[in-house]
Amino acid sequence: MVCRYEQDLKVMIEKVKKYTASGKVADYIPALATANQSDVAVAIFDGSATCFSEGEHHKLFTLQSISKVLTLALALMDHGEEYVFEKVGMEPTGDPFNSIAKLESHVPSKPLNPMINAGALAVSSLIKGESNEEKLNRVVHFVRELSGNNNISYNKGVAKSEFETADLNRSLAYFMKQHHVITGDVDELLDFYTKQCAIEVDCEDLAKIGYALAHHGEHPDNSYSIIPTEIARLVKTFMVTCGMYNASGEFAIRVGIPAKSGVSGGIVGAVPGGIGIGIYGPALDEKGNSIAGMKLLELLSSQYHLSIF
Ligand code: GLN
Repeated sequence: MVCRYEQDLKVMIEKVKKYTASGKVADYIPALATANQSDVAVAIFDGSATCFSEGEHHKLFTLQSISKVLTLALALMDHGEEYVFEKVGMEPTGDPFNSIAKLESHVPSKPLNPMINAGALAVSSLIKGESNEEKLNRVVHFVRELSGNNNISYNKGVAKSEFETADLNRSLAYFMKQHHVITGDVDELLDFYTKQCAIEVDCEDLAKIGYALAHHGEHPDNSYSIIPTEIARLVKTFMVTCGMYNASGEFAIRVGIPAKSGVSGGIVGAVPGGIGIGIYGPALDEKGNSIAGMKLLELLSSQYHLSIF
């Protein structure tokens, strides 16, 4: 098994590398524009002692929208389902991740799901803590626990860069405040949200996070529960229906693995009861998903029969 993954991953990385040339590194957050367009990396964690990885797998990148999965889990642990889903819905939008359009199109104007920016902002506003520092510490600790990596922290430069340019997210938050979906100071929320998005990992960390989600939220080493089973199930369902934004339908058909992407080029995959997958490839397609990463997941899914459908 060890050799099989190692050889296969090498071949797959070689196959998908060419796609990076037709993608584009995100630059609406200026600090992300410095990423290397041609990087592609993958890691697989199957619960054994080592991760199998290929490509630039030690490169650090920020979670961006992948953090939405984790704050959703935390908010559900903090408040329970009923309260959280009073603030955010459960339906895919078919719109880009940062779209404002559907916020106005139904009453009450709560965001349609927690994986779009509006929904994630609403969820972030629910995280318990006396201060932003305490809230962020809780999220960082959660990421450390899920990945087993105590060195995880957030990238101050990326957080600052996003905070200074997040006018669209600010407008989403002000809209929701006007409609009582969120309360409190919008810039305080943006400060927390941009730091949460700037938590830095490599693709091995992501593979381990994916593995924990895949295994009912249990810690891989000692089998204690980090996320209650029911919440891990719920979060994985959102990953299937909304995890790849408005490409989620096609992704379900082509790949069929609960997954969540971020504009830094990361993708976490969680095969229920199976492996965790971490991907990095900062060249994005027009919907904001890693262009080579999507191809890589397609290859992985067909080679190892990973589709849940
Ligand atoms: N921090 C990013 C934003 O809010 C996350 C978006 C993403 O990864 N798709 O725009």
